[in-house]
Amino acid sequence: MRIVVDASVCTGHGRCYSLAPEIFVGDDDGYCASVDVDVPSGLEAQALKGVRNCPERAIRLIDD
Ligand code: SF4
Repeated sequence: MRIVVDASVCTGHGRCYSLAPEIFVGDDDGYCASVDVDVPSGLEAQALKGVRNCPERAIRLIDD
């Protein structure tokens, strides 16, 4: 499982890294700095939580 964040859509709400801190990291301005992450085994639920709670729908989940 992989997640990809569209930085052009992210507005820096910070919900992803607040709710799923083991997957997402914020930058100094509050935007999501994790643009392409391989989700470690066991953290799929946390990744999904981040995806579902992004108000801008900037995060895409890729199931490979
Ligand atoms: S929740 Fe969405 S809009 Fe907010 S920082 Fe994360 S990716 Fe960006």
